[in-house]
Amino acid sequence: MAEPVILGVRGGSPEAPRISYLENPVPVSTGWLNLTGAIKPTEILRFAARCEEGACRHFDGANCRLASRIVQILPAVVESLPPCKIRYECRWFRQEGRPACLRCPQVVTEVQEPGDEFRRAATPD
Ligand code: SF4
Repeated sequence: MAEPVILGVRGGSPEAPRISYLENPVPVSTGWLNLTGAIKPTEILRFAARCEEGACRHFDGANCRLASRIVQILPAVVESLPPCKIRYECRWFRQEGRPACLRCPQVVTEVQEPGDEFRRAATPD
């Protein structure tokens, strides 16, 4: 994707967040960010952006280690592919395939009190 987009909105519970994927991801804009009011946008909106490769601490030169850890550490939370509109350009899917998508709905940008599995998955090796 050329520009960052809002991919989905957080639902579920504090302990078990679930992303509802937007029918049509929208470009990130001040108007959308202001809609979350007192809640930080990163706590309630799921963003997607172009992979920055070497500029990202999760990239090892060939692969996204974050995607690898998510698949290795977190459980699958859905049984079928979520209705995600960026699949054809998603690095996580290209690298890890279906197992990444089955875990993706529990991934939120910012978690106030992450559990042990989420913390390990998010921490660079
Ligand atoms: S891992 Fe799958 S569900 Fe998640 S953003 Fe990529 S394509 Fe979409």
